[in-house]
Amino acid sequence: MKILITAGPTREAIDPVRYLSNRSSGKMGYALAEAAVARGHEVLLISGPVSLPAVEGANTIKVITASEMYDAVQAHIGEAVDAAIFCAAVADYRPACVEEHKIKKDDNEQITLVLEKTADILGSVRGKMDFTGLLIGFAAETEKLESYARRKLQSKQCDLIVANHVGDAQTGFDADDNQLQLFFADGQQQKLPLQTKRLLGEKVIEIIEKMGEPKT
Ligand code: C5P
Repeated sequence: MKILITAGPTREAIDPVRYLSNRSSGKMGYALAEAAVARGHEVLLISGPVSLPAVEGANTIKVITASEMYDAVQAHIGEAVDAAIFCAAVADYRPACVEEHKIKKDDNEQITLVLEKTADILGSVRGKMDFTGLLIGFAAETEKLESYARRKLQSKQCDLIVANHVGDAQTGFDADDNQLQLFFADGQQQKLPLQTKRLLGEKVIEIIEKMGEPKT
């Protein structure tokens, strides 16, 4: 299969020296890319800024902002991609204007940063980008995991949402281990218990392979 994977955080500039970002390390997305290469798939990894070694055997495109990630996905999703896995923690909002010079401290006790919505990449691939392959989204939540995941499954027209609970030290952001709960479009669900992200990557890719098999 040809598999497109987004991974890592995005960075949204405030001024030339500051940005808004999040705690995503990219480990889960890179683990998925490694597992997919190891299982013989052609992998296109679209990665935000991470400090992880490159995935050998994957074609990697590095981006910084949500807008760059959107453009990279749009440019490549049509290239006979069989499955697209959106694992990146894309910024939902970015500063509405980027200051040309470093913001200086002055007498104000508070200053206000105005944010504007970024484009929803996962939410655009079915409609705007005409993608017909398998679509897998991730959901990182700190509460109401199942209801948010099911809502995302529908609103973004995904075949599968891979959900994880973030906020515990042992799992989620930057941890080496994770536990996942999978919600399929046909209503089924599956739990993958606590294990390394590399092993989880292997299992998720195996599940996607099965989803791609012709139904008999
Ligand atoms: O709605 P939420 O941001 O929680 O959705 C998470 C899913 O959507 C992830 O798969 C993430 O990669 C994707 N996403 C995206 N573009 C955005 C925001 C999220 O592709 N701007």
